[in-house]
Amino acid sequence: GAAGSTAQLVIHAIDDVVEAHVDELGRLDAIAGDGDHGIGMQRGARAAADAADRAAAAGAGAGTVLAMAGDAWADKAGGTSGALWGAALRAAGLRIGDSAPPTALDVAEAVAAGRDAIQELGKAQVGDKTLVDALVPFAAELSTGVAASLSLAEAWAAAAAVATAQAQATSDLLPRMGRARPHMEKSLGTPDPGAISLALAMTAAATVLA
Ligand code: ADP
Ligand code: MG
Ligand code: MG
Repeated sequence: GAAGSTAQLVIHAIDDVVEAHVDELGRLDAIAGDGDHGIGMQRGARAAADAADRAAAAGAGAGTVLAMAGDAWADKAGGTSGALWGAALRAAGLRIGDSAPPTALDVAEAVAAGRDAIQELGKAQVGDKTLVDALVPFAAELSTGVAASLSLAEAWAAAAAVATAQAQATSDLLPRMGRARPHMEKSLGTPDPGAISLALAMTAAATVLA
């Protein structure tokens, strides 16, 4: 249906922006991590886009498109971020469902469900220098905007701007989770790669919702 197609376009926008930043994300991850964040995100987003295409072609609604995309992402990406992105998309898809066209509130609640899935699986809190540092403020700003009766497009764009600023601000943090942790000092002055890719993805998704 129409909502399924929108979800498919969102996944494609994320895939496109990841493709355009593969090398940059790899370089960022190589400073204190293992350098594979670009290729991991590329493998995951590409598999997710293919799965979203198959689901949408079969007439699936938004919930199934997102859940199938998440399963493919987790299956194909490998790495910590792949498992987290996969779990978040699946949780968001289950929350949004296939029955009715999602409202802005449904979308904000689906993003919150994705955030919760990531924090349950990865156990990171704000300040640990992970993608959670971009995702938590993104979800909060989206909920606030929707509660203030902004359109989904406006609320999402404002939330994406907050995510971008918070991802940049991880430069000042020391990593407390993941592979960058043993190389803390090297990471100082560089933003967290997973937070940067999350902000890029949410910014790209905003163009579809606009
Ligand atoms: P890997 O670390 O397995 O090589 P990636 O390089 O693809 O996987 O992803 C690294 C990113 O994953 C980090 O920059 C960080 O944002 C995120 N990350 C790592 N551990 C966690 C965690 N426990 N919770 C949330 N995000 C995490
Ligand atoms: Mg890595
Ligand atoms: Mg790795």
